[in-house]
Amino acid sequence: MKRKEFPVYEKVEITAAAAEGKSLARIDNLVVFVSNAVPGDVADIRITRKHRRFIEGEAIHFHQLSDKRTKPACEHFGLCGGCKWQHLDYAWQLHYKQQQVTDALTRIGKIELPGIMPILGSAATYNYRNRLDYSFSNKRWLTTEEIGRGFDFVDRNALGFHIPGTFDKVLDLNQCHLQTAPSDEIRAFVRQYAQQYKLPFYDIRERRGLLRGLTVRTASTGETMVIFQFFRDEPELTHPLMQALADAFPQITSLLWITNGKANDTFHDLPVNTFHGRDHIFEAMENLRFKIGPKSFYQTNSAQAYELYKVTRNFAQLTGSENVYDLYTGTGTIALFVAAQAQKVTGVELVPAAIEDARQNAAMNGIQNAHFFAADMKDMFTPDFLHTHGRPDVIITDPPRAGMHEDVVRCIAGSQAARVVYVSCNPASQARDLEILNEAYSVEKVQPVDMFPQTHHVENVVLLEKR
Ligand code: SAH
Repeated sequence: MKRKEFPVYEKVEITAAAAEGKSLARIDNLVVFVSNAVPGDVADIRITRKHRRFIEGEAIHFHQLSDKRTKPACEHFGLCGGCKWQHLDYAWQLHYKQQQVTDALTRIGKIELPGIMPILGSAATYNYRNRLDYSFSNKRWLTTEEIGRGFDFVDRNALGFHIPGTFDKVLDLNQCHLQTAPSDEIRAFVRQYAQQYKLPFYDIRERRGLLRGLTVRTASTGETMVIFQFFRDEPELTHPLMQALADAFPQITSLLWITNGKANDTFHDLPVNTFHGRDHIFEAMENLRFKIGPKSFYQTNSAQAYELYKVTRNFAQLTGSENVYDLYTGTGTIALFVAAQAQKVTGVELVPAAIEDARQNAAMNGIQNAHFFAADMKDMFTPDFLHTHGRPDVIITDPPRAGMHEDVVRCIAGSQAARVVYVSCNPASQARDLEILNEAYSVEKVQPVDMFPQTHHVENVVLLEKR
């Protein structure tokens, strides 16, 4: 179908929130997933795609704006791919996240559920992220408005985020509300310097240019890490840039650079060079310190990670005598967070470098009862492994979005652990796993947590007890 042939339905009421930041409406008894609207809006909907059981559409004209709306803080809202819920009042964001968890868990009818506890909102609803990855591009995304007004396309350089659905277009950010200072200031400084000294921005399509990526990581300790990705090694151009940045921002305690000539932007497999300061920063939580290297994972909302971990530790009900397992432990943060209240903690994680971090963090914090192993969970977490390391009293698990491999779920089901605390960033895969656990474990508590305000993402912690 050509675009003009897509039908438009007039004055459709948007009734609920749906996955991926979309909203729900009904047209002729068909479910429509609508972008660009919030529940309570009445809008004309242009159909963009038809599937057998549902259709997709976008709101193109509004007859009535929902009272659940609020003014987005960001000038880039709508164009930028992040923060799709900024136009929804925060109280309503929480309402729909709670709903998302309830829907996911009740869809599996067989499981008896306790009352779902009210979602824990984030104290900071903006500037809560501790890490942003900006991209350079010489193909700045132009708005229809800019093209319309005959913008002279001289400066097409951009430093910002990739436009979703495009391969080489980057939104040139003026201000982003996701990270605290000096993230915006660093980005603006680098952009201005690069412009002034005519350093070539990366051409994603042609694969040429110099400046490729800029990562800023901030910590509650006040330390800041900056990581440059250059497409090629040209120290006579890049070193003066980094020196100027280091001089302008004394907060930068770790200034690192990478030459990345690969096809993609990831750098887990590339050597990292230190230009200035240390090759890591420190994050602090309660009485713990975590060393964060350029390749280490750390929960991106530090303040709310603390709340999430407290819920996890409360649900675990540790007394000091328990044998605890922390599955999908990452850099071991949950394991170390509960270690003081356990007899022993065993963390398992796929990425060997993360396990290295976990061991270093244990040593740095003087924790001797935490042990870490790197392997694919389904290969390592087996009845044999439990036999070797001892019958679990409590299993904490925090898998990625896909949830757990069925073999892992079955191993937990047969583990005889008194309690399982299941932390999930995807209630749908969590619900699927809970269904398998249901025969051996009953769901006792459900606590949704909002780690990512302004987005539709929701974290959920479930306490299971042995039947
Ligand atoms: N609990 C940690 C990290 C959770 S993120 C924290 O709070 O910081 C999920 C983790 O699961 C990631 O570190 C990822 O590397 C790991 N992971 C993904 N697939 C895995 C698998 N098949 N086996 C083991 N670990 C896996």
